[in-house]
Amino acid sequence: MNAVDSSLDAAPIADWRSYPISADLVNLVPASDALDTHWSDGRVSPFHYQWLRDNCACGQCVYSVTREQLFEIVDVPEQLHPQRTRIDEQGHLLIDWQDGHHSRFHPGWLRAHAYDEVSRAERRAQRPQSQLWGAEMSEQLPQFDYQAVMADDDALLQWLLAVRDIGLTQLRGVPTTEDVLPALAKRISFIRESNFGVLFDVQSKADADSNAYTSFNLPLHTDLPTRELQPGLQFLHCLVNDATGGESVFVDGFAIAEALHQEAPELFHTLCETPIEFRNRSRNSDYHRLAPIIALDAYGVVSEIRMGNFLRGAFDAPVERMPALYSAYRRFIAMTREPRFRVQRRLDAGQLWCFDNRRTLHARTEFDPASGARHFKGCYVDRDELLSRIHVLQR
Ligand SMILES: [Zn+2]
Repeated sequence: MNAVDSSLDAAPIADWRSYPISADLVNLVPASDALDTHWSDGRVSPFHYQWLRDNCACGQCVYSVTREQLFEIVDVPEQLHPQRTRIDEQGHLLIDWQDGHHSRFHPGWLRAHAYDEVSRAERRAQRPQSQLWGAEMSEQLPQFDYQAVMADDDALLQWLLAVRDIGLTQLRGVPTTEDVLPALAKRISFIRESNFGVLFDVQSKADADSNAYTSFNLPLHTDLPTRELQPGLQFLHCLVNDATGGESVFVDGFAIAEALHQEAPELFHTLCETPIEFRNRSRNSDYHRLAPIIALDAYGVVSEIRMGNFLRGAFDAPVERMPALYSAYRRFIAMTREPRFRVQRRLDAGQLWCFDNRRTLHARTEFDPASGARHFKGCYVDRDELLSRIHVLQR
């Protein structure tokens, strides 16, 4: 196969998405280590030659079946220059490299990956934003119909976007048989198994291996803070709820973190920076994890809350930091008890909660097991699976 043939073979875009053309390439100005591309709307996007060579989507550089890269940038010299650059009749950028390699770039793809300041700001603004909530959510709960979500991909997408952006949703009209929950979870992806099983039963047990399986008041917490990766989504499906008490309580951990950041920044930073031990021990398992209560992502945005007072180990911090750690911890828990953040709702048979377990803290008020049966079925699905499903549905 010669170089010309391979450029004709080229997969125009090395991934599964499509890239609408919002502006055309109008001019190319080669500089010493980068190509300045000028767009029809006046934007100028420099692309370094190494970057362009690295992102060549031709059949030699990318395996067309997997759409994954074969080429590694270290296989060409660091001081790389095109012999010739031009815009073809379809508006693609063509580059002939000094070593005889040819690259062709789709303008929509290039624009979507441009890293000039304006393009990067545009992408930052398009990142999904968490919608923070407080007690008012009790009246504005995002509710979805089970049958619609099972049958219609658009209804499924609307539900999943609410899980992603709001982190608390309710499904209604859910049949009260035990096979329903796994089928629903599989509309997203596979279930995350844990030591509590693929599906777990939330009902009071005499030989409980967690306070969840008692009738006590459970304080606000995330599930499995004892693991390196806390489960992303939690499902709680109510099969029967005839007991007195036992209401579900939720708070938006991101909203509390944001309020703490505003009201007491030093306490917020203490919770971001101090690793806390969470542990869960039973006869056959012994989990523990050291991690801060508030985690930030690479952009400095709150991305995760980890909290479970009944699963927490003894604090271990430098002597002079211990009082500050207690101040921050007390304040966070006190905030979870403030009415402004709390949503309290009873879940009836045929209803189901689905929430972001790495964001939304949940609790249950005490119930009287003698007053009637109470049986919830639960399972987890990781956040990656949610986001992947959303991306596929949006293609
Ligand atoms: Zn190539």
